[in-house]
Formats: sequence, C-alpha cells, structure tokens
Amino acid sequence: MEGIKTYSMKKLFWENPYLREYVSKIAKKDGNRIVPEQTVFFAFSGGQASDSGTIGGIPVKEAVNKNGKIEYLLEKEPEFDEGNEVKIKIDWEKRFRIMRLHSAAHVVYFLFKEKTGIEKLIGSNVDEQKSRIDYEYPESVKGVLPELEEKANAVFSQDNEIKTYPDAENPEKRLWECMAWKSFCGGTHPKSTIEIGKVRLKRKNIGSGKERIEITLES
Ligand SMILES: [Zn+2]
Repeated sequence: MEGIKTYSMKKLFWENPYLREYVSKIAKKDGNRIVPEQTVFFAFSGGQASDSGTIGGIPVKEAVNKNGKIEYLLEKEPEFDEGNEVKIKIDWEKRFRIMRLHSAAHVVYFLFKEKTGIEKLIGSNVDEQKSRIDYEYPESVKGVLPELEEKANAVFSQDNEIKTYPDAENPEKRLWECMAWKSFCGGTHPKSTIEIGKVRLKRKNIGSGKERIEITLES
C-alpha cells in the first residue's frame, strides 16, 4: 500500500467518541486491506481494545495502527473500490463499555496514587469486560480496595466533566483531564463521570511483588 504516508487520516473517534457510524471515502484498498480517509473505528492502542464493526457491511477482522493511519483487514475482499464512499459502523454497546471502563481506570489510578504515592504502572489494559492497572507493590492491594472503590463510586455518582484534547506541542498526542487529574491518553472517553456508573474493584496477584486492580461495571 504505497503512498499511505502521504495523506492524513481523520480520527473522528477523538473529535466525537459518540459517533457510531460514518460514511467515508476509501483512500486505499489492497485485497481485503483497506484504509478510509476518515474513521470512527478505534484500533488497539495504549492498552485499549479495538472496536468491532463493519465497513461496507463486511465485518472487520483486525484494525491496525500504521504510521498514524489505521488499516482494516476485512473478513473478505470487498466489492467497493478506492474512491468509493462506504459506511463504517461500530458495535456501540462494546465501545461505550470500553469508554466507561477506560475513564474509570484513570480515576482509580489517581485515587490509588493519592492513597499510596505510587504512580508507576507496569501494565494496563481496557476491553469491554474490564479494565486493569498493574503495579509493583510489596503487599496485597486488597486492604486499600474498599476505600478506593467507595471513592471511585462517589466520583462516578456525580457529573464531573471529562475532557480529551490534543497536546499543544504534538497534536498526535492527546490528553485526558477530569477534576484535578490529567494524563496523556489517546483513548476514547465519555463526557462525564456520571456515565461510568457504579464499578467494582478486584485484586489479582500477578506474580511476586506484582499486584493488579481489576475494574468491572455493575451494569
Ligand atoms: Zn487512557
């Protein structure tokens, strides 16, 4: 797929993470690999799972970030061609759960930092079932979880604005901001903490001196 670096792709999931479908022109096609000019379909990045959905009615098998663009591998070769306008549609139920769980992970991260002083993550991941943050921690995190869960749910019971925006110096880098908290993050997020709803926190030991906090949605 030559020439792929010569144009930019508009990532609509950043401007409007609530957009469930969009008709875009196809910029490149190579068998069942396609690159649209604009997209609402998130590809795995920063620990956040890819969306599920269809392009031109054909299920997407895989979405891959490549040089700032996203290439989609379709389940079969489409009949549409470069230059055609095609509908890109995502599984909204899955996406919205990912958005809620992703912002929830940021909030729990900052609450954990405020409680323990620890800010270094050794891993993190978000899919539609759960999000998780991993730490090097000398003991079980079980003791701090009830307090963290209560504080997190207090945040999620109120309408606190969540903002995401490009970094002034490097627009490909983005920021997540809520209340006094700010992080670099290129994921998709709800507009308010009230959309997250009630969560549950669970501890998992993932090896000697390594602790995981798992976050799941109550509904
Ligand atoms: Zn994030």
